[in-house]
Amino acid sequence: MTEMRDIVIVGGGPVGSVLALALQASNVNVTVLEARAKDAAHSDKRALALSYGSRIILEQLGVWSQLEKKATAINTIHISQKGSLGRAKLDAKEHKQSALGYVLAYGDLSAALDEALSQQPEVQVLYEAVATKIQPNTDVATVTFNRENAEQSLTAQLAVLADGGRSLETIEGMTRETKEYGHDALVSKVKCELPHQNIAYERFTAMGPVALLPNGARDFSLVWTAERGKVDQLLALNDEQFLESLHHHFGDRLGRFLHVEKRLSFPLKMASLKPTFAPHLVVIGNAAQTMHPVAGQGFNVGLRDASSLAALINKELINQTAEPLGSNRMLEQYHAVRSKDTKRGLMFTDFLVNVFSNDIVGVSAGRAAALGLLDILKPVKSHLVSKMSFGK
Ligand SMILES: Cc1cc2nc3c(=O)[nH]c(=O)nc-3n(C[C@H](O)[C@H](O)[C@H](O)COP(=O)(O)OP(=O)(O)OC[C@H]3O[C@@H](n4cnc5c(N)ncnc54)[C@H](O)[C@@H]3O)c2cc1C
Repeated sequence: MTEMRDIVIVGGGPVGSVLALALQASNVNVTVLEARAKDAAHSDKRALALSYGSRIILEQLGVWSQLEKKATAINTIHISQKGSLGRAKLDAKEHKQSALGYVLAYGDLSAALDEALSQQPEVQVLYEAVATKIQPNTDVATVTFNRENAEQSLTAQLAVLADGGRSLETIEGMTRETKEYGHDALVSKVKCELPHQNIAYERFTAMGPVALLPNGARDFSLVWTAERGKVDQLLALNDEQFLESLHHHFGDRLGRFLHVEKRLSFPLKMASLKPTFAPHLVVIGNAAQTMHPVAGQGFNVGLRDASSLAALINKELINQTAEPLGSNRMLEQYHAVRSKDTKRGLMFTDFLVNVFSNDIVGVSAGRAAALGLLDILKPVKSHLVSKMSFGK
């Protein structure tokens, strides 16, 4: 017999886990299906750029106190363009925030969220459970999964897809619109001659943007985006050649680059859910939208998906508005709440990629002027900080 749950979340990454934790206020029973083994993600060193708003979400869930000592605060963001004097600086103090954002390892975040989930009796987390089929029906959704070499299934009033986008296209009627940038992101950790002083650098170059995010006492996380062929060349260099190339590309602001850890790359694309609708199913996080990392938006938009969905469910259940979980009205409300933030995040990111990644002379001069203007126009700066921190 198929077991019935209130909510089944497919994917126990950061977004699915935050949703499961945030649902505790409403006493619903929740099952999380997670393909990886327990603890397997805890060693993932991928550096996530957390917005100040994401910190508040984690604080409200009671996990920030464990993470704070592992996170590196970004107090200033320095934005510049190679080959021009135009630059802009955003400063946390100017905007009355204790930080503009934080850099945190994916593994540290996963470990804190897994630990918090293990203390929630209403949440059942099934590790090594790979969802193979999600069927939204008129009354319930059915999720089929493989675990311990057996096929099992659960029905739920609401199924939430938070699997990073791996199964979306297997669900009837659900499709994503994808734009391939033809660029890859090269990620690593580097050490420089000068300390970071909690400053994050975003440097736009004709090749593509380079971001250096303070990570730990002395290191920076590097995200260097460029055409795939160029990234392949950068990956093929030895460490010394690579550090020299980075220095040449980034400039002298941080002195020489002294050390680089293992370099990895991944393809960049923009993807968003087509306006499709499936009953008793919501798609959140990277599964719903994938963004270029240029403005550090994607992960934070995903956390806001989870937080908004939980707030909506909690409100409905606490007020006992008698609207069943996963009803069309509830799903419409969710889409209405989230669509603006998602669209803005996608457009803002795509705009930055297009405007800051070409070398046309007029455009280049315009960019330099725009950065100079941004630096002196306080309301525009405040708008930008608010957008990056809270999505509005
Ligand atoms: C290679 C790579 C590097 C990245 N580097 C950076 C970076 O440097 N900085 C940054 O800010 N962002 C980075 N990102 C983006 C960032 O990782 C995402 O924004 C963030 O992880 C999204 O969280 P999520 O929970 O939506 O998805 P994910 O983190 O992808 O989590 C999805 C979870 O679902 C599980 N899952 C998948 N399929 C199934 C299934 N069928 N059944 C059950 N469980 C399933 C997975 O095991 C995983 O735990 C990177 C992404 C990739 C792919």
